[in-house]
Amino acid sequence: MILKTRYEPDELKIMNLLEPRMNFTEKEKQRHYRLKKGYEGEVKYDRWMKSLEIQNLTLNDLLLEASNTTFQIDSSVITQNKLLLFEVKDFEGEYYYEDERLKIIYGEEIKDPLLQLKRNTSLFRQLLASLGFHLEIESYVIFINPEFTLYQAPKNAPNILPSQLNRFMKKLNKRQSKLNNIHQKIADKLLELHTVDNPYKRLPKYEYEQLKKGIVCGECHSFVDQVVKREFVCSHCGSHEKIDTAVLRNIEEVRLLFPDKKITTTLIYEWSNGALSRKVIRNILSDNFNVVSTKRHQYFEVSSK
Ligand SMILES: [Zn+2]
Repeated sequence: MILKTRYEPDELKIMNLLEPRMNFTEKEKQRHYRLKKGYEGEVKYDRWMKSLEIQNLTLNDLLLEASNTTFQIDSSVITQNKLLLFEVKDFEGEYYYEDERLKIIYGEEIKDPLLQLKRNTSLFRQLLASLGFHLEIESYVIFINPEFTLYQAPKNAPNILPSQLNRFMKKLNKRQSKLNNIHQKIADKLLELHTVDNPYKRLPKYEYEQLKKGIVCGECHSFVDQVVKREFVCSHCGSHEKIDTAVLRNIEEVRLLFPDKKITTTLIYEWSNGALSRKVIRNILSDNFNVVSTKRHQYFEVSSK
């Protein structure tokens, strides 16, 4: 049973929104790519985990703290005798180990997920012990991309390669697992200790004035400029979107990018770069939200998600 589902992280959502509207530095491009790959990998992993049949409590993307160190676990699966920790990697291509270092074939050394796994497992163990729970931890790096090959992997390393995924799942499904209220208590405690990350601290610096304005296609993220019969039409990918839907989506964009800004007709008019008249925008806003009028301003109350 999945107790904590995975969502597209806000940091990735925001980077996706910023990408067409500003120029990323090389470093920011890499960070954006890593976030996208990370999330894609986790989505694939979630699909694979649907085959787990034994009783379990699954908590995805927990952010915890032990010994004054914050650590994130892609997936924690509570079963009868073991707490399984999974670190998910969507690496693609050929990799090899040399002198205990992980390298890309014809490329440079990269951060070894085994080291991260080891560190996180140790922190998780300390945390469970400090809470007075005694459940053995077993942890693995799951290489979820079928296009991944690893040479010279250290023997007995807890790596599950793409060709081993099926067999590994079969083995898990043969385990005994009857859960009781202690397992539930562990899950509840972990959920309680889960902290929410502030996605804004790692983002590129951006200001409202500096971002390119306009309606961005919801499918291909290019700017759309055509309105045909109350629909935006994207000349890049051909997708259509009703103007109401597009405006509401853009309000969500502005709210995620600028949580402190008040939603006004002028703001959305500017944000869409005059693609629609103020009147059309005002109508869409008043149809969907409550208007709040002060002496000098009028804005719309958009309730939280
Ligand atoms: Zn498009």
